[in-house]
Amino acid sequence: MSAKILDGKKLASHSEEEIKKEVLTLKKHGIAPTLATILVGNDPASETYVRMKRNTCKKVGIESIAVELPEATTTEELLETIDDLNNNPNVHGILLQHPVPSQIDERKCFDAINIEKDVDGVTCLGFGNMSMGIDAYGSCTPAGIIRLIKHYELEIQGLNAVVVGRSPILGKPMAMMLLNLNATVTICHSRTQNIKNIIKNADLIVGAVGIPKFIKIDWVKQGAIVIDAGFHPEKCGDIDLDQMDKISSAYTPVPGGVGPMTINTLILHTVQSAKKILNN
Ligand code: NAP
Repeated sequence: MSAKILDGKKLASHSEEEIKKEVLTLKKHGIAPTLATILVGNDPASETYVRMKRNTCKKVGIESIAVELPEATTTEELLETIDDLNNNPNVHGILLQHPVPSQIDERKCFDAINIEKDVDGVTCLGFGNMSMGIDAYGSCTPAGIIRLIKHYELEIQGLNAVVVGRSPILGKPMAMMLLNLNATVTICHSRTQNIKNIIKNADLIVGAVGIPKFIKIDWVKQGAIVIDAGFHPEKCGDIDLDQMDKISSAYTPVPGGVGPMTINTLILHTVQSAKKILNN
């Protein structure tokens, strides 16, 4: 039997139509959902990511405020910018594009984002709340993966889940989200021993390692659910997906799996944040 393809592109596109309707309703009530994006410096990949996020906002009718700061920006200057956006009642979400130049204390700046506007799920408080099951916007890539899993009604409870990678935006929140769905979670990282054997035991694998095709097809157990969060210029992910339809029970393609869900989750969170104003 061939595997189920977890089609993030299709789900994101369907969700965009729903978001467009929500935006129109909010605008009728005098609220224009607005995302502020902050780009510091001239990293070409970051410029591309921010442009994609702004374009998606435009497509669904979300306003975006584009803040662009020079490479030499200090932590204090960035904190002032964040403070202004925190205090701007017309801004419902703040995205600080990662990475920022090395002279900036990135953690301090992420944590300065008001929890109500942390639609990208980057603050320690947001991570803590999400981990404890308290209402919070989860980090967008893992939150998008959970939306895909739920959309395809995959049963997670009791599965042996292995997350490869422990970054603050991906591996760690992913592990907590899977734990909250009652999976038994193992996190692997660069110092993990016998990674192949650990993965071989997994009912669900998340590749969030940042190395093209790091996880080989023969490390994957027959019938496992395979989620590839990686994306590389050669248009492959962190998992060798070439024969995955014959091995896994379900998998995310690259491109078209996890990637489209990330931006979609960011704009969904922005609309949810604007909606809270209407409901309060
Ligand atoms: P990252 O910050 O570089 O983290 C990579 C993680 O992988 C680290 O925890 C690292 O371990 C671990 N690792 C590195 N080499 C390893 C090895 N040989 N064995 C086991 N673990 C190893 O990367 P990230 O930001 O989480 O991104 C991971 C991947 O997801 C990348 O391919 C990126 O392009 C992709 N991504 C996609 C989206 C999207 O929207 N689709 C968004 C974000 C990221 P240590 O902690 O020990 O160093």
